Amino acid sequence: MTTTVQCPTCNTGVRWVTENTHRPFCSQRCQQIDFGDWATESFSIAGDSVMDSASLGTEDVDS
Ligand SMILES: [Zn+2]
Repeated sequence: MTTTVQCPTCNTGVRWVTENTHRPFCSQRCQQIDFGDWATESFSIAGDSVMDSASLGTEDVDS
């Protein structure tokens, strides 16, 4: 009895077993693709957020 999940990157069925170190991904390639997308998106949002905070902080100090 094995649980099967879908790879978030390519939707391939992945058996949820200890031997599959890349679960829920089907392979290291899909794991890296998904992490790359997340990291890029997160970095972009964080950068904008930091810039906004810096601008607001400066305004508060001046006024
Ligand atoms: Zn995959």
